[in-house]
Amino acid sequence: MTTQDLQVDDNMVVTLAYKLFLDDDTLIDSSDEYGPLEYLHGYNQIIPGLERAVSGLKKDDRIEVLIPPEDAYGARFEDSFESVPLDVFPDDIELEIGMELELIDSESNEELVAYIYDISDEAVLIDFNHPLAGEDLFFEIRVLDIRPATADELAHGHVHNEDEHKH
Ligand SMILES: [Zn+2]
Repeated sequence: MTTQDLQVDDNMVVTLAYKLFLDDDTLIDSSDEYGPLEYLHGYNQIIPGLERAVSGLKKDDRIEVLIPPEDAYGARFEDSFESVPLDVFPDDIELEIGMELELIDSESNEELVAYIYDISDEAVLIDFNHPLAGEDLFFEIRVLDIRPATADELAHGHVHNEDEHKH
């Protein structure tokens, strides 16, 4: 079996070139800028709509796909904002609009990801929606490579690179 015969399927390591556009044709993310996306297929490492769309593709296949919010980052909730006093944040962090924050919920102890929506003199408005929640996402995809995952990768549930192996 050669690489050309392989199809994107569960337990395959897949490398994709991609461009991501919003409804209004704004390019917001691309492999030209951030490098190809390499992930382990079937492990929910990419949004469900994209995982489904590339399933069964072969090396060098190209697709264009429109993914609605329910198959991407979910609906946007208007009540998931919270105002946090500025002095809660450590002095040495430079706060910026759009910055991702990792927070621990004091009741459930769960780790939450939130984003800075606005900054005033006294407070930071935090948005618990993903920045792409509620957005239709338009992807242009090309399959650069497909290979079977190693036993180690399957046991860990992620891709191992030679130069980068974070846990
Ligand atoms: Zn690992």
